[in-house]
Amino acid sequence: MTDFARTRQAFYLPQGITYLDGNSLGPMPKAATERVARMMADEWSEMLITGWNRAGWMDQPGRVGDRIARLIGAGPGQVVMGDTLSVKLFQAVSAARALRPDRRVILSDSGNFPSDLYVAEGLARAVGAELRVVAPEDVEAAITPDLAVLMLTEVDYRTGRRHDMAALTALAHQAGALTVWDLAHSAGAVDVDLLGADADFAVGCTYKYLNGGPGAPAFIWTHPRLEDQAQPILQGWLGHAAPFAFDLDYRPAPGIQRMRVGTPPVIALAALEAAMDVWDQVEMADLRAASIALSERFIAGVEAECPGLILNSPRDPARRGSQVGFRHPQGYAVMQALIAQGVIGDFRAPDVLRFGFAPLYNSAEDVDHAVAVLACILREGSWDRPEFHRRAAVT
Ligand SMILES: *Cc1c(COP(=O)(O)O)cnc(C)c1O
Repeated sequence: MTDFARTRQAFYLPQGITYLDGNSLGPMPKAATERVARMMADEWSEMLITGWNRAGWMDQPGRVGDRIARLIGAGPGQVVMGDTLSVKLFQAVSAARALRPDRRVILSDSGNFPSDLYVAEGLARAVGAELRVVAPEDVEAAITPDLAVLMLTEVDYRTGRRHDMAALTALAHQAGALTVWDLAHSAGAVDVDLLGADADFAVGCTYKYLNGGPGAPAFIWTHPRLEDQAQPILQGWLGHAAPFAFDLDYRPAPGIQRMRVGTPPVIALAALEAAMDVWDQVEMADLRAASIALSERFIAGVEAECPGLILNSPRDPARRGSQVGFRHPQGYAVMQALIAQGVIGDFRAPDVLRFGFAPLYNSAEDVDHAVAVLACILREGSWDRPEFHRRAAVT
């Protein structure tokens, strides 16, 4: 059994803050300070260039990838770290589409995060493909035999709605297409089983539920049956079979290594390693059960005590990720009022209050406190002050 009382101790949370926004940026593992300082004091400063070999910086993207693999139902040697999620998504979709050269259509849904759609739109323009976007509930019907790639984010960033990865992947395969799953709101949030679902490609970020820190590097996974066929468009030297041969021609590295592009972000990976030390103590089945308990408690509390808020997430927890949305016509101001009282969630246009639940550091008391503060703000109308209506750049 995972000891969540222990994992809670591993994170730094400022005094008086109830943090329900780990779906945007996870909190800092206390050990990250020391781990990054050690990287600076013992590795960069003392080893200089020799750190690439002596401190193992060059293999770090695969080492960290192995620890993430366990959390997403992938095997060792199948995941590699680097770049941002948008870049890794480009790698995955370009490689998937290249494996279906006689097909043009990349299918996604309107619940996807805009960056994913922008990446696919640009890729489609460059390679003469077509991006087709349908409503999330229409995806199944839109899986047709002209499909090259089904590109979906498993958990919807606004509603928390969770796609059925295994069922949609099976349908895509029947239609002759490949799948790319974005796990931005799944990795560290739900019990992903990439091999069990027979997915083809997956990508995700590590600064949300995985708590790797702002700008922490993304990960990419390719199913082993495809890893030696996949050819991403973005061919960098560290995805080459022999980077230090400095050949003028590109030869892809075997396996997932070919999805690497350039120099790994060693300092950022050190911070992420501190988070992985906590994740190594976690069983995803325990985490999923605890996350459902927290989100169910929150929904029940809000519906009992906060009239005027409308649930914007599936009611069935099996069809939800680890976040819950509620709509309110003045959602932005309500969230600002909440934040002013130390309860941090976030707001997504046009009217959604979003709350992420992370059993690694959130408890039932956090949930009860958030409900009580929200109920009070709505009862007293204290959200309707001018300062709560002023918009900041990052919401
Ligand atoms: C958070 C998120 C992103 C962000 O991509 P970055 O390149 O890391 O900025 C992309 N896609 C989805 C689905 C996300 O949730």
